[in-house]
Amino acid sequence: MQTSPTNPGHANSWYAASANDKRVRPELEGETEADVCVIGAGFTGISAALELAENGFSVVVLEGERVGFGASGRNGGQIVNGYSRDLEVIARRYGPDKAVKLGEMSLEGGEIIRRRVATYGIRCDLVDGGFFAAFTDKQVKEMAHVKANWEKHGHTGLEMVAKADVGKYVKSDRYVGGMIDRLGGHIHPLNLVLGEAAAAEGLGVRIFEKSRVTGLDMGLNPVVKTAKGRVKAKYVLVCGNAYLGSMLPKITDRMMPVSSQVMATEPLDAKLIEDLLPANYCVEDANYVLDYYRRTADNRLLYGGGIGYGGHDPANLTGVIRPNMLKTFPQLKGARIDFAWSGNFALTLTRIPHMGRLSENVYFSHGDSGHGVTTTHLLGKILGEAVAGHAGRFDVWASLPALPFPGGRTFRVPLTVLGAWWYGLRDKLGV
Ligand SMILES: Cc1cc2nc3c(=O)[nH]c(=O)nc-3n(C[C@H](O)[C@H](O)[C@H](O)COP(=O)(O)OP(=O)(O)OC[C@H]3O[C@@H](n4cnc5c(N)ncnc54)[C@H](O)[C@@H]3O)c2cc1C
Repeated sequence: MQTSPTNPGHANSWYAASANDKRVRPELEGETEADVCVIGAGFTGISAALELAENGFSVVVLEGERVGFGASGRNGGQIVNGYSRDLEVIARRYGPDKAVKLGEMSLEGGEIIRRRVATYGIRCDLVDGGFFAAFTDKQVKEMAHVKANWEKHGHTGLEMVAKADVGKYVKSDRYVGGMIDRLGGHIHPLNLVLGEAAAAEGLGVRIFEKSRVTGLDMGLNPVVKTAKGRVKAKYVLVCGNAYLGSMLPKITDRMMPVSSQVMATEPLDAKLIEDLLPANYCVEDANYVLDYYRRTADNRLLYGGGIGYGGHDPANLTGVIRPNMLKTFPQLKGARIDFAWSGNFALTLTRIPHMGRLSENVYFSHGDSGHGVTTTHLLGKILGEAVAGHAGRFDVWASLPALPFPGGRTFRVPLTVLGAWWYGLRDKLGV
């Protein structure tokens, strides 16, 4: 990973360069105590910490690198509602009751973000509105089907967009239609997580950076260990997601790190970027390996896509993403690329987040499978609720089966690549 020259310890992203808060937090040294120790300062961990602090718990957060170092500080910034699998698939797999319960929570992540931004005055360039772009009539039909089903669960923000109206949202001739989500939107994700971390600190949460957890003693009084310190806590929340490594194989064998790549152009002429994305909605297409893009507050085009199973970075990041950007917007042939970076999200076999207990007082949540900006906020809150003794929603999630990847650690990557190749081929052929 190339690190940011102006914000060391972060990937060299536009986000790191434009972060509101570049302050470095101390490393944990010696022993301390707290009601709850949270491992990982991404959206999940910070969302849990903030929820707990708002409810009077003392919290220590241990982050191996910097707050927002992982996916939360590097993603496309798209507020996408729902989960990586549609509620209809959830109903088919786990029964209608589970679909109803997950449906009730499916808009809450976006609401939590908006509430916190307003309550704590977080400056993260929040903009409302998202557009799902379809390449084929089949994808349009699928979107209409998803819309009808989602509306049964109370989503009122969706609207189909005919081909003639696509230009209101994106000026590209690649699409035959799409769907807008007025409850979607976009943010500067690193500034969001930094703002939430600062809000948590304002309520007494202690956050330590460069404090990677190397050991965890479970039991009645769990102890969390780093190279130079230890935290004694009543509860531990494991929120390391794709960066957890192999510390807890019981749960990490049920997820796979997957990389996605993002780049940001130079600031574009205001008229040009307004012409490309007139409504300032974020856009993601409907392919299996999808492209996602949006405007930034300083008029760059931030364009993401690509995929690396196992979490490997391609050698030439721009070489992967720029050709896709030019297929969408040939007008940008001459635009300079100022930043290109990569980050890892955690994929589960079911594409549904994996949440549960490692012991009576050690809980975990990970595996938002590429759509995690909203879900992590929801699940972090639910982790906090469970610690506070309200485990009803936690138990709904924890009851969903989490399967290990076929092929174990050695063959899970090639087998998943094979599956993705098949779906990617279908997208290319438009079938
Ligand atoms: C390039 C990219 C683009 C994406 N775009 C979008 C998007 O536009 N919309 C969307 O909804 N989702 C998107 N996602 C997914 C979304 O970003 C993630 O689902 C979400 O940020 C995961 O948050 P998290 O807190 O669970 O994990 P992370 O943000 O990865 O945080 C985990 C943290 O734990 C720390 N950690 C790990 N192990 C340890 C340890 N042992 N000790 C201490 N600390 C530890 C890590 O350093 C890291 O900071 C994208 C993901 C990527 C990678």
